[in-house]
Order: sequence, then structure tokens, then C-alpha cells
Amino acid sequence: MINYSLIFYLKLSFLFILGSFFGSFINCLSYRYINSLDFIYSRSICENCGHKLNVSDLIPVFSYLLRKGKCKYCGKPIDKSHLLIEIITGIVFVLLFIKNKYLNYLYLKDIILSLILIGLSIIDIKSYIIPDGFIIGGIINYLFFEFDDIYLDLIRAFIISVFIYLLVIIMNKNNHKDNMGMGDIKLIFMISLYFDAYKVLIIILLASILGLIEILIHKRNKIPFGPFIAIACIITLTLL
Ligand SMILES: [Zn+2]
Repeated sequence: MINYSLIFYLKLSFLFILGSFFGSFINCLSYRYINSLDFIYSRSICENCGHKLNVSDLIPVFSYLLRKGKCKYCGKPIDKSHLLIEIITGIVFVLLFIKNKYLNYLYLKDIILSLILIGLSIIDIKSYIIPDGFIIGGIINYLFFEFDDIYLDLIRAFIISVFIYLLVIIMNKNNHKDNMGMGDIKLIFMISLYFDAYKVLIIILLASILGLIEILIHKRNKIPFGPFIAIACIITLTLL
């Protein structure tokens, strides 16, 4: 029994480290997308001084803690969001394993969906855009792993997103501002492929509540909605 739990905890630790590497990778790709940099050939640099980073500077979580959150070259603080994304992705890898119990194709499907959601959230927060590439990636991931009921899922996703789209048009007309962008509608279409109507409703409600809390706490009049849908999705994936 002790042996079993030791292996179990080793697995969890390994998955956390693996997740933090993927978090670092998706963060890096999103940064390159926002700054229109080459995806493959450009090397990672410090955002303050532009110094190229070594392999030892790029170990997730560890490098940040070792340098006490400061750049080795210029001494300026590194954006905490990098550490946060690495930790969150690590935790998501662990929670999905605990829920799924096996490292099988269902785990892989949920992991890829979570990485897509994390990536599009980073971009949406910084640029108020949800790139179509992430939506298409989510749809391909769904089609790759799903064998039954594809037509049913597609019809459900279509009905839900059209319904939300019409609702948004009516809301925009009533209070003369953009409540939700097309990117959010496409995102709702994509996630509706993965979840049943009941869970999609929970996700939209949860995202709206979290968004409202953000508006009230930070007194903002415009927020990107994508990250809240993403957070609600990941909570539903890992805990419900
Ligand atoms: Zn620097």
C-alpha cells in the first residue's frame, strides 16, 4: 500500500513538472504570437533587457525561484505571470490525472484542450483577441479523439453558439456596447463540442460570475471574456 502511494505521488510530481514545462512552452508561444515573433527560430529573451536566455534560465518555476524573480542579466523583476502560468499548468496536469486515474487517450485529450484554453487566455488578456488557430486546434483535438456522436455534438454546439450569438446581438442593441466578441462565440462553439448542454450552461454561468467579480473588484468597464470561459472550462474538466 505504501509502495503504491509512493509511486502515485511520484507520478503526481512528475506530471506537475511536465505540466510546468508545457505551461512555459505555451506561455512562450503566446508571447511570440502577441509580439509577432517567429514561432520556431527566435530564441527566448528577457522582456526588460533583451538578453538571450540560456537553457538554465528556462527551467519552469525553478529558474524563477532560484533568481528570486529577477533577471540574471539586468536584475529587473520578471513578470510574475510566467511563474503563475507554469504553476497553474502543472496543477492542471495533476488534477486531470487524479480525476481520470489513467494516463490514457482521454487524459491526453483533456490536456491538449487545457493547453489550448491556457494559450488563448494569455493572448486574450493581453490583446483582446482569441486567434482562430486555437479554436481550430480545439476542434481538431475533439475530432481526433471522439469517435461516436460527432453529429450530435456538432448540432448541439451549433445551436448553443447561435443562441448565445442572438442573445449578444440583442444585449448589444439594448446597451449600445459590445458585451461579447465573435471570438467568444467561436470559443463557446468549440467547448460545446466537449461538454453536454448542462455543463456548457454551468461553464457560461460560472464564467459570467467570475467576470462580474473581476469587473466589480477592479472597477473595469471592459474585460476579455475568453479567460473566464477558459477558467470555468478547466474547473469543470478537473473537478466536476
Ligand atoms: Zn533582463
